[in-house]
Amino acid sequence: MSTARLTIDLDALAANYRVLAAQAGVEVAPVVKADAYGLGAGPVARRLWAEGARRFFVARANEGRALRRALGVQRPAEIYVLDGAAPGRAGLFSGGELRPVLNSPEQVAAWRAAGGGPCAVHIDTGMNRLGLRPEEAGLAADLAPAIVLSHLACTDEPANPMNRRQRDLFAEASRAFPGARLCLANSGGVFLGPDYAFDLVRPGVSLFGGGPEGRPDPRLRAVATFEADVLQVREAAAGESVGYGAAHGLVADTRIAVVGAGYADGVPRSSSPRGQVWLAGRRRPIVGRISMDSLAVDAGDAAVRAGDRVELFGPRLPLDEAAAAAGTIAYELLTSVGGRVERRYLGGAG
Ligand SMILES: *Cc1c(COP(=O)(O)O)cnc(C)c1O
Repeated sequence: MSTARLTIDLDALAANYRVLAAQAGVEVAPVVKADAYGLGAGPVARRLWAEGARRFFVARANEGRALRRALGVQRPAEIYVLDGAAPGRAGLFSGGELRPVLNSPEQVAAWRAAGGGPCAVHIDTGMNRLGLRPEEAGLAADLAPAIVLSHLACTDEPANPMNRRQRDLFAEASRAFPGARLCLANSGGVFLGPDYAFDLVRPGVSLFGGGPEGRPDPRLRAVATFEADVLQVREAAAGESVGYGAAHGLVADTRIAVVGAGYADGVPRSSSPRGQVWLAGRRRPIVGRISMDSLAVDAGDAAVRAGDRVELFGPRLPLDEAAAAAGTIAYELLTSVGGRVERRYLGGAG
């Protein structure tokens, strides 16, 4: 029996998908890379398929193959691989099972040399991450990509002028592809307004409950609930300390709940000293350093017992707040949940 568990509410996922679709007014092509941000690409994609999604994005070819298997022949869908086809590996894609997102002149040339086929083309409009430079876009025009995309760098700051600059550059450079469907917006982009929607949108984190601006958004539901059991309750005395390094000194007698989740389960070490958990009806502070397998909570005067459940993030303790308290972002928190954490699904997989 593992003490830490992650519950994935597929009905909440479906609700977020519908919120994003209504907001965008165009097709939603979910991003389910990194095992759907740690939530399980198979159940997540099957439910999104049941909700109407027919195009998915992953980062790596092996994720794409696993997703294809998880969807099975009875759920046809286009699967795009954001990494693209590295030169010499274009053959992996030629069966049509996966579609590469071509990111560089080398990838474009290799894809053409391998005979072409359904693909997408990525134009970099300012991130300097992946993609052709705008002036290189014409190099891929003969491949007639099904989708042309770009990625926004600053959507968590709606007022940042970089958003508009990237959008306009994308509109301009994508004119080299009159037959393609255009795709710019990630989760944050969906909420920037209709100018950013183009033909389809490509959200990830907001499907999974992460706010588009890195803080809780009332329009979205919590999809993932990370919980663990109280392993032991201890009465510690003023003057004693808690945990490694004796880093937390107690100024008063304190009831400590030792919780069975640590950094090996995906609770960042940086959750100390600012982090909180939900325990016995309210938020309570994490005290002392996070251990590999446990953490300590100041339980106050709550009648806590071994076996009680603690929420580390979820509907009562928003993912974005837990991430901020640890100095990180929802994406990292979700994708860090450890392999030994039991996953459980609520709601139909479709
Ligand atoms: C991860 C990723 C997305 C999804 O971004 P969110 O911010 O999670 O919505 C979209 N497009 C690209 C290219 C990505 O790498």
